[in-house]
Amino acid sequence: MSQLKVLIVGAGGLGVPAALRLAHCGIAQLTLLDPERVELSNLARQVIYRIADIGQFKAEAAVRRLTAKFPQLHAEPIVAAMDAGNAAALVARHHFIIDGTDDPAAKFLINDTCIAAGRPFVYAGVLGFTGQAMTVLPGRTACLRCLFEAPPSQAEVASCRDAGILGPVAGVIGAIQAEQAIALARKGHPALAGKILTYDARNSRIRVTAAASRRGCGCGAYEYLTGAGAGRGGITEGKL
Ligand SMILES: [Zn+2]
Repeated sequence: MSQLKVLIVGAGGLGVPAALRLAHCGIAQLTLLDPERVELSNLARQVIYRIADIGQFKAEAAVRRLTAKFPQLHAEPIVAAMDAGNAAALVARHHFIIDGTDDPAAKFLINDTCIAAGRPFVYAGVLGFTGQAMTVLPGRTACLRCLFEAPPSQAEVASCRDAGILGPVAGVIGAIQAEQAIALARKGHPALAGKILTYDARNSRIRVTAAASRRGCGCGAYEYLTGAGAGRGGITEGKL
């Protein structure tokens, strides 16, 4: 049984399959963060919820379902969104963070908070038939801002929402995110550190490419990887 404490931000299409996979693989300490309630439209994609959960808070309903299935699991529900006021404290008390959000601003907040705290995390993005995941070891591998300097505009976000998300794609990506935490617990190194995995459901193809760090990003990965000056701290896993 692993002592790794994992924070899952968002108990939706990514966070639910990630939580199930973690519990199944013996990650016994989870925190699930989500401000929303279960809606009928969630049931198809967020497989843990039942009709009886409609109207309940997702974080609480998911923890109830998870602990019924995995009695050894210590799972804490938090009915809240991650925001600038709670992010640092939440990240600080976990070893690994899973980005299960569908909001670019939240993804950048997770990125920046984890970089500042030296906590590894796994990013995910899902759109239509494709999904992506990348694990970030702060100050060691490329971060979200190495790839995209700033969150997309509201218009871009709206067009992404219109494109929708295919449930099974989120399920695959959520499970891959969980595997990153499991690999960290077992081997000390997540396979997607510094790499971007892209899954395309139209042809069942998975591609893994290197995530290039960017000079001047501020996360320190470029300096660390190229030896161009001192990085900024690096990871602090294990020290809660
Ligand atoms: Zn960076």
